[in-house]
Amino acid sequence: MDSYPKLFIPGPTYVPEHVMQSLTPPQIGHRTPEFSELMSTVVQGIQKVLYTKNHVYLVSHAATGLWEMGIQNSVKKGALHAVNGSFSSKWASVSKECGHETGVLEYDWGKGVKAEDVDEKLSSGRYDIFAMVHNETSTGVCSPLEPISEMMREKYPQVIWLVDAVSSMAGVKIETDKLGIDFLLSSTQKAWGLPAGFSVCAVSDRLIELSKSIPNKGYFLDINVYEKYYEKMQTPSTPSIPHLFGLKFVLEQIEKEGLENRWSRHIENAEYTRNWANERGQSLFPETGFESPTITCIQNDKEWDINEINEKLLERGFRMDRGYGKLRGKAFRVAHMGNVMREDLTDYLNNFDEVING
Ligand code: PLP
Repeated sequence: MDSYPKLFIPGPTYVPEHVMQSLTPPQIGHRTPEFSELMSTVVQGIQKVLYTKNHVYLVSHAATGLWEMGIQNSVKKGALHAVNGSFSSKWASVSKECGHETGVLEYDWGKGVKAEDVDEKLSSGRYDIFAMVHNETSTGVCSPLEPISEMMREKYPQVIWLVDAVSSMAGVKIETDKLGIDFLLSSTQKAWGLPAGFSVCAVSDRLIELSKSIPNKGYFLDINVYEKYYEKMQTPSTPSIPHLFGLKFVLEQIEKEGLENRWSRHIENAEYTRNWANERGQSLFPETGFESPTITCIQNDKEWDINEINEKLLERGFRMDRGYGKLRGKAFRVAHMGNVMREDLTDYLNNFDEVING
């Protein structure tokens, strides 16, 4: 394990040895009282982190599958997708692939999702669900949910709201019930600070009810199948039990840290990274006011040789991000979420400084 570089990419994120260890208790049967007890502890812990009473499903595959779960259990008329980066764009294409009438609210990369634009699109009456990515990992843009929530509650209370919080959940405060989010999803390899391959979602009662009236959802992603097993605190199929142990441990760590401290830590580390970039003559890629607390996307105004920096950082034992897709080399990201503490960040940025100063 020590021979691999320490991760400062926006997922999978850095998982220290003691967290990895938490995934290794002996296996337990998934139809046993001890499993239900473990699941119940994990579900209640996640509900606290998400400020919700909604049912929380534990899902043994990547979050991409939850994009499909959200869509397949909710759309009757049409899905409106806000698209402001690579992941939101992929989610919109998943809706199309699933055969749904799909509308797109398109933004340039770097821009945030705004309530008034969503309002304009929803006013057409063509859509019964609205899907957006809270924290666009590709661009480091975090779109505040409060104004969208207010607008939706006032004007479109019947529209189902699906939110991808893959790179914000457990790193950014999301008050699910207060906001009225019907489907909130994430995988574990970002701000939860665990290995990849496992996901969680919080599902509102009205979405569970709605799902009952939707045919042809298949089996694997059917919310009603999840519900049947949820009543017994079980999962429909054999889950990744190591991930459940890992989540239990991380939730204990979060409890110790305190929720408000955790949200502040992410904000403060983001501010620290933004200042670091600005002091070196680089600006930030996201539009002002939409900078992510978990990922800082730095515009490479100084035209640093990102590939060379990458090579040198690798020699020092760090894995950097070089920019997502079309941003490669033009903007690069620093992830500061989950297990990344201030001392990890300063160590990384000090090494970065030494590399750029030759
Ligand atoms: N949504 C966002 C915002 C992401 O950043 C990612 C992955 O990086 C995904 C969805 C897909 O997650 P997964 O790889 O767990 O399917």
